[in-house]
Amino acid sequence: MRCPICEKGSLRKGEVEEEMFGISLGRFPAEICDACGESFLDGQAMEEIEKKAKELGVWGLAEKLKVVKSGNSLVVRIPAKIAKFLGIEAGNEILLYPEGKKKAVFEIT
Ligand SMILES: [Zn+2]
Repeated sequence: MRCPICEKGSLRKGEVEEEMFGISLGRFPAEICDACGESFLDGQAMEEIEKKAKELGVWGLAEKLKVVKSGNSLVVRIPAKIAKFLGIEAGNEILLYPEGKKKAVFEIT
């Protein structure tokens, strides 16, 4: 089968390592392009990935947050499930820094 991305390579059976938010979910069967390296998972592998991510508590961790004003600062509320996953609580210190103009990282110190 031809690769739908580069349209040059052909797809071969293999395995790919999947991760979500930096947590490894394991290896899953996939079709891998021998030219561009793009991998394609089938529906069953997608279901297994979802199941594993739920088991590990990383499923649905990304959330849209609203920035609110508090004095001269801006406040972002950290949702309870993300705080729990990170193991942080009120009073903890974090390090916040931008990574370019569209992304910021906060690091548990
Ligand atoms: Zn390709």
